[in-house]
Amino acid sequence: MTEYYKHESAFVEEDTEIGEDTNIWHLVHVREGASIGKNCNLGKDVYVGVDVEIGNNVKIQNGVSVYEGVKVEDDVFLGPHMTFTNDLYPRATNEGWDVVSTHVKKGASIGAHATIISGVEIGEYAMVGAGAVVTEDVPDFALVVGNPASINGFVCYCGEKLDDVKEKDEDAVVFACSHCDKEVSVDREVYDKLKER
Ligand SMILES: [Zn+2]
Repeated sequence: MTEYYKHESAFVEEDTEIGEDTNIWHLVHVREGASIGKNCNLGKDVYVGVDVEIGNNVKIQNGVSVYEGVKVEDDVFLGPHMTFTNDLYPRATNEGWDVVSTHVKKGASIGAHATIISGVEIGEYAMVGAGAVVTEDVPDFALVVGNPASINGFVCYCGEKLDDVKEKDEDAVVFACSHCDKEVSVDREVYDKLKER
């Protein structure tokens, strides 16, 4: 048995895998076939759908439903009441719809109440602003805001916005973070999309 904490009001179905040091708080529901990594935190009223895969060190704030078809990599932050979807053409009366998958890559953060339309990929260390409605893929390290969400800038591993361009060539733009001194390389094509605005 792995050592994780589950509050007595939470319901974890059979055939699930939950890593050590993960905390599952009040009224959480984890469906069969789901796997959750080590050192995760699932806040009150979190729902994890059938066969969903969640990596290590993932923090899921209150009221988030991670539906079937969503994949969450390591170190991801899902803000309070953010919303995933898994059906592009929902109708109450259609049967057997196709699940459209969504992929949240390593280190990405999704702000409170943001909505992610199914079928998109949220890039590594990307940041989705609170309340944004994401309708297309988000590049690595991009900060996206608004409805529909668009690129507003780039963020560091530490989450701070990147302002200082250190080097620029035809393939990449390298930023230096003034907060933690790390360097972040952004694809030149992606960077130019921001400049065109
Ligand atoms: Zn930084």
